[in-house]
Amino acid sequence: MTFTSLASSSAGNAYLVEDGESRLLIECGLPFRRLRKLLGFDVTGLRGCLITHEHKDHARSFLELIRSGVPVWASEGTAEALESELPEILPVREDGDYLPFRVGTFSVLPFRTWHDAKEPVGYLVRGTDGDKLAFATDTVNLEYRFPGAGILAVECNYAADILVRSTRLPEKVRERITNSHMEISTLCGYLQGLDLSACRELWLLHLSDACSDEGRFIRAVRGCVPGHVAVRACPKGG
Ligand SMILES: [Zn+2]
Repeated sequence: MTFTSLASSSAGNAYLVEDGESRLLIECGLPFRRLRKLLGFDVTGLRGCLITHEHKDHARSFLELIRSGVPVWASEGTAEALESELPEILPVREDGDYLPFRVGTFSVLPFRTWHDAKEPVGYLVRGTDGDKLAFATDTVNLEYRFPGAGILAVECNYAADILVRSTRLPEKVRERITNSHMEISTLCGYLQGLDLSACRELWLLHLSDACSDEGRFIRAVRGCVPGHVAVRACPKGG
């Protein structure tokens, strides 16, 4: 299974997952024309698109994708917030836990995240090759551990000390970042508690324009994961 970041910033997010048989998009937060271009004008080859929440930088092109024949999956709360009945709704059990479902050759299990959105989720995606990707963006923290995942793609949005110095940002914006995004030391603390023996790639998603430092974040994360894990920041792209 391969994971490719097409764009990863508050200007727009889109990620491509391929297992040799199916192509799956995670997020469609770019203008559709740009998204099509980044996908090599092969939108119809997608087996589906998973979106994590309703914010435009994650969901902007969902209607165009659906109109192009690509099924888009979202939680019930996300579909409500998008004011659309068109997305496929993530299946849930009676107790409210999400159920796994298939998209092309992928098996997908949603999980809850913490963000200022109606019903935000992350996704654990398993390909035909048995390889697993855990994808979690726009979340203050994580409680799931994803044993056996070969690829982890996790938000690494800001550093508290850079945020404090970012006095050009309005107070409300700074508050929102703190209450809805992952701080670098939170991520490091989370990673230190994981069994990463199966992990080969760790992607840092959604670095803040104003409050992140890519080189520093990569060094910090490398310092708290085993040496065999390749740590990379997703290019902002788009
Ligand atoms: Zn968001």
